[in-house]
Amino acid sequence: MEFEIYKELGIDEKVLKLSSEVMDELKERFETIDEIAEYNQMKVLKAMQECRVAEAHFGTSTGYGYNDDGRDTLEKVYAKTFHTEDALVRAQITCGTHALHLALSANLRPGDELLSPVGKPYDTLEEVIGIRPSVGSLKEYGVSYRQVDLLEDGSFNYEAIKEAINEKTKVVTIQRSKGYASRPTFSVNQIGELIAFIKGIKPEVIVMVDNCYGEFIEKIEPSDVDADMIVGSLIKNPGGGLAPIGGYIAGKKECIERCAYRLTSPGLGKEVGASLGMNQTFFQGFFLAPTVSAGAEKGAIFAAAIYEKLGYKVIPSSREIRHDIIQAVEMRSPEGLIAFCKGIQAAAPVDSYVSPEPWAMPGYDDEVIMAAGAFVQGSSIELSADGPLRPPYTAFFQGGLTFNHARFGIMMSVQKLLEAKIIEL
Ligand SMILES: *Cc1c(COP(=O)(O)O)cnc(C)c1O
Repeated sequence: MEFEIYKELGIDEKVLKLSSEVMDELKERFETIDEIAEYNQMKVLKAMQECRVAEAHFGTSTGYGYNDDGRDTLEKVYAKTFHTEDALVRAQITCGTHALHLALSANLRPGDELLSPVGKPYDTLEEVIGIRPSVGSLKEYGVSYRQVDLLEDGSFNYEAIKEAINEKTKVVTIQRSKGYASRPTFSVNQIGELIAFIKGIKPEVIVMVDNCYGEFIEKIEPSDVDADMIVGSLIKNPGGGLAPIGGYIAGKKECIERCAYRLTSPGLGKEVGASLGMNQTFFQGFFLAPTVSAGAEKGAIFAAAIYEKLGYKVIPSSREIRHDIIQAVEMRSPEGLIAFCKGIQAAAPVDSYVSPEPWAMPGYDDEVIMAAGAFVQGSSIELSADGPLRPPYTAFFQGGLTFNHARFGIMMSVQKLLEAKIIEL
């Protein structure tokens, strides 16, 4: 390793040594990830070539955005890559939650029921669904909700799922990534088994998979195992770190059509929606997404390995197969969590000189600390960490536009723990 430059950046020799040791242990692991990234890179490239992506597609549109060939071709590229009939990829989709709400509200009607067979969904979906009372929730529109929790060992409760499916069940929502819950993330094959089971009981049901943080981590996506819609955010994996906004929904033609009419208006659908200069960035970000996601995944594994060595509990472990890019590290004390986040912040390319402090964030019971120095606000494909100030003081770490940067962030977090005398090396 280039010791000098790291020392100039404030990293102790002992941290460097530890980092080098961990790197040696991970070589084989990383080869597998590179191989998946290589395959996915070719998958995206092939889709771009088959869709005849051209320089002309990088033009922009304003106003209504009629005849925006670039936008329409981008949606074809997404559909081809994810092996779906159609896709909606828009700057007008403001974030992942919006994309998920769009997919659900477009495909559910009053009197229908939504089923989550994988336990409680991501925090922000509680208000979308109306689990927590909220203005404009699906519940307000007469859509009921049913949930089947996972079994204690994290597996699907098939018996209870069978019982929960009824004549009202219209849409099933499956969250691929654990998000910030403590359950395991599901592999695409596990999701496929669950979908097959559900469609065996009720074939006409629409299955939506929340694909956030999961894109390009495996060679297949949930759309390859019969999901009717996959949904995600462009400021996570598929934006490749370049997209400054946006969301996508890829899936069956009639599902996407309903989403388009919901996003814009009945009668208008996909025909409108100016791309406002985003086309080139969205194409280029999607092109980079397989390697950027792989870099973030390697960063998560590096974090797991180094913190395991330091005696911390990490989820998942450094040896487990991954299905998303989130890493949890139980820091055991408020001081530990704060030092971890201060390290991530100090490693950022933007706002590295500020120091994150815990604060009472709206919607959370405990104080939360967040570290991010990103080019795109809130982008979690960029190096970031956060965690609520409550036992076991878990730091959630994700992102890094390059593996080198993700690794440096983790080294800096260890450095801060060392300086605060929370660990010894
Ligand atoms: C990030 C995320 C969301 C919500 O996305 P936002 O862009 O933050 O609104 C939903 N589900 C999962 C699993 C996520 O990781």
